[in-house]
Amino acid sequence: MDQMDTTTGKPDYPYFCPSCRSNRVKFSIINKSIQSIRKDAISGAVMERGEAAAVMEDDPVIQCNICQYTSNEMRFMKQAEREPRKDETPTIMYG
Ligand SMILES: [Zn+2]
Repeated sequence: MDQMDTTTGKPDYPYFCPSCRSNRVKFSIINKSIQSIRKDAISGAVMERGEAAAVMEDDPVIQCNICQYTSNEMRFMKQAEREPRKDETPTIMYG
């Protein structure tokens, strides 16, 4: 059973940054937002601003908070799929 993300209704997938390849944890979601405004017809000044609301997108833009690489969510999901995180502790070879 996939866990559902309550904000998008989509299942959760791991992300892995394809650029720095060290970050699976810290990301930002860049959402577009919509806000109604009322302008003065002559001066063009904004007279009123409505409340801003986030526009939910199927493929949001994600930014890596480590290297600032920005791309579609799909790229981060694909990279995590290609290089899944191993559960076992890596063996460190000294020598
Ligand atoms: Zn990165």
